[in-house]
Amino acid sequence: MGTLDPRRDKALVVDGGSFGRRFRELLALHGIPHDAIELEHGAPLRVEDLDAYSGGDHTAFLVNLGETSQGVLYDANLIADFCKREDLFLVVDGISSFLADPFDMGEMGADVLITDAQKALACPPGVAPIVLSPRALERVRRVVQPCSYFNLGLMLENQLRGQTPFTPAVGIILQIHERLRQLQEAGGAAAEVALRASVAEDFRRRVSESGLPLEMRLTSPSNAVTFLKTIGFSARRLVDDMKETYGIWLCPNGGEGAETSFRVGHIGEHPLSDNALLVAALLDAQRRGIMRP
Ligand SMILES: *Cc1c(COP(=O)(O)O)cnc(C)c1O
Repeated sequence: MGTLDPRRDKALVVDGGSFGRRFRELLALHGIPHDAIELEHGAPLRVEDLDAYSGGDHTAFLVNLGETSQGVLYDANLIADFCKREDLFLVVDGISSFLADPFDMGEMGADVLITDAQKALACPPGVAPIVLSPRALERVRRVVQPCSYFNLGLMLENQLRGQTPFTPAVGIILQIHERLRQLQEAGGAAAEVALRASVAEDFRRRVSESGLPLEMRLTSPSNAVTFLKTIGFSARRLVDDMKETYGIWLCPNGGEGAETSFRVGHIGEHPLSDNALLVAALLDAQRRGIMRP
C-alpha cells in the first residue's frame, strides 16, 4: 500500500476475479476507504462501469491490468482516460501483463506499476519489482508506511547507498538481471510481447481447428493466458488426467469454475511445438473418453 493514506484517500478498485478481489482485501486490511467495481467474471471493463463513478470523491484507482484468473485484459486507454479526467492516483498491478501485453506506463499515466519475477520474466518467485512515478515518490515521503518490512520510504532511502534495507532474494535478482539481458539481446520488451502474442494466437488457432469440446473466452483476452470452458465434461478430471498421463500441467481454476473451466499459460519457455504437443494430448484424451460427461 505505501502510497495511499487511510485518512485522506478513497480508492476505487476493479474486482473482476480473484486478483481484483485480493486488491480489495488489501485495501480493507490497511483500512483504506474504498468502493469496488464488481465485474461479472470474464467481463471486460466498459466505459459505463467507470462513468458510474464520474465526479465522485475518489482519489485513487487500483486495477490489475490483466485479471489472470479470468484471462481478461482490461482496456488501458479507457482506464487512463478516466483517471486523467478524474485526477485519480493510478496503481496498476501489471504482474501478468508485464512483457506479455502491450503496455506503456508513461502513456497510461500510471503512478505505480507492480510487476513480479514469476510471470513473463519467467524467473522463480521471490521478488516483485515496483516502479513509482514522481507523483508516487512524493506520496511515499508523505504517507505513513504501514509495515516495517514493506516500507517504500526505507527502500528508497537505502537505494541511495546502493542497498536494500533487508536482505532480498539475491539469487533471484541475479536471475532477473540475466533474463533482462537476454530479453534485450532478443529485441527488448516489444519483441517479447510480440512473441507472447504469437504463442497465444498459435494456441488459440490450433484449439479452434481441433474441433475439441472446448470454448475459449476471447473477449479482450490477455496474451499471458487462455481461459477455456469445457463443453459437457469435468475440467478437474481433464486437468488431473493431463498431469498423470502426459506430464502436462494445465492451470486448474478454483472455486465455482473448477469443474467447468481451466487455463493454459503462454508465458515462460513455451515454444510453438509445446502448443502442438498439448493439442495432440487433448485430442488423445478425448479419444480415451476423458471428455465424456
Ligand atoms: C500472479 C499474479 C499476482 C501474484 O500472485 P501470486 O499468488 O503471488 O503468484 C498478482 N496479480 C496478478 C494479476 C497476477 O497474475
